[in-house]
Amino acid sequence: MSRLIIVSNRVSVPDNQGAAAAGGLAVALQAALAERGGVWMGWSGKSSGDIEPEPLVLTEDGNITYALTDLTQTDVEEYYQGFANRVLWPICHYRLDLAEYGRKEMASYFRVNRFFAHRLAPLVEPDDIIWVHDYHLIPLAAELRQMGLKNRIGFFLHIPWPPADVLFTMPVHEEIMRGLSSYDLLGFQTKYDLENFAGCLKREGMGVENSPGHFSAHGHNFRGGAYSIGIETAAFAEFARKAAAHSMVRKARQSVEGRDLIIGVDRLDYSKGITQRIDAFERFITNNPAHQRRVTYLQITPKSRSEVPEYEAMQHAVAEQAGRVNGAIGTVDWVPIRYINRSISRPVLAGLYRLAKVGLVTPLRDGMNLVAKEYVAAQDPDDPGVLVLSRFAGAARELKGALLVNPYDVDGTANALARGINMPLEERRERWRGMMDHLLENDVSRWCENFLTDLRAE
Ligand code: UDP
Repeated sequence: MSRLIIVSNRVSVPDNQGAAAAGGLAVALQAALAERGGVWMGWSGKSSGDIEPEPLVLTEDGNITYALTDLTQTDVEEYYQGFANRVLWPICHYRLDLAEYGRKEMASYFRVNRFFAHRLAPLVEPDDIIWVHDYHLIPLAAELRQMGLKNRIGFFLHIPWPPADVLFTMPVHEEIMRGLSSYDLLGFQTKYDLENFAGCLKREGMGVENSPGHFSAHGHNFRGGAYSIGIETAAFAEFARKAAAHSMVRKARQSVEGRDLIIGVDRLDYSKGITQRIDAFERFITNNPAHQRRVTYLQITPKSRSEVPEYEAMQHAVAEQAGRVNGAIGTVDWVPIRYINRSISRPVLAGLYRLAKVGLVTPLRDGMNLVAKEYVAAQDPDDPGVLVLSRFAGAARELKGALLVNPYDVDGTANALARGINMPLEERRERWRGMMDHLLENDVSRWCENFLTDLRAE
């Protein structure tokens, strides 16, 4: 039976914190690896300074080998912070205005992918199948092919794929498209991302779609499909049921003093629409004075990528905005927005989601958005909350019971908030049941199986 090799920028090496801390994706990938044995390779997250990284550090856990490499400081800055996070991330999230092109960063991205390929190749056996994850590693298959590897290689993109007019603003878009065309199977979050990819191939005659999902480009035939990632739905619902007893969740419940809770949970990232969301909350209160002092909006926003200037600027902007709105609409006994800049463990998050009457998930663009799915999974079936969801999140294609909003439309989001807060129980139950059934059926294990079945198929 063929082994599985997973490659991703960061690797989830099991520690003593268990599955809950690891998150659904890591658990599902570890389960897939354990089934047939295999290797998970990636960056350790550490820098080797200005010296060449040591050989791979291998850690065995049952029949899984974790293989980690450090990167030089230059590579961390140019490949990771530079090209991955300041070019591919903004471009794939339709933010042409934020992309920062530098020749050094672009060269480093391809160089680090070659370095990964050279470190990985000695671990690969002829019938292994290889599954590469996310935008950091697009050129990896092309590098492995150049070294003569004939294995089946699949790629899953966790973030959106933009249309041709957006992608082609990137100077190295052709090399990126050639990199994607070297895989045997490309997985996208939604069919819209797949359509965008097909449009990019077609626009400049780089390739053709011979039949739906079957492509030829750059001398290679390959397939593409939409595989919407799920969460560990049943386990997450179980965390949420148990979380009521957790001291942090109990304290949160007491401190909202019977007010309706609205929750937002996002890494601090410009793609998440946090400033537009705070505006919408303020508008909701000013348009609906009856709700003044009767709601609390809890926004949990762990810092991320603080070394990238756009993220640092955003930290200041959001903190200032939350303070301004609290000053403008708060009263001596009511702080409308609780803005928390710290990461909360997933089992506690599950309990907080369950306390909240509205889950407010309004990214300007998001590949999937797992928070939306977790919010639904965490609800009490007898008294579920309402999901207010951006139509620009991949999750909006699946979660039909959500109130869909355009996050750029502040009044529209404010109205949806009002509708969510006031929604009758029967409608809440009906909307929630449909979404929960979908999430139970399409969980992260199913996603993993679907992708691997298609990758194994000749
Ligand atoms: N998350 C967490 N603690 C926090 C905030 C978020 O564990 O304080 C988790 C959250 O439960 C979810 C993930 O981080 O599983 C965020 O995934 P999502 O797809 O929503 O956004 P991303 O950060 O990947 O863009």
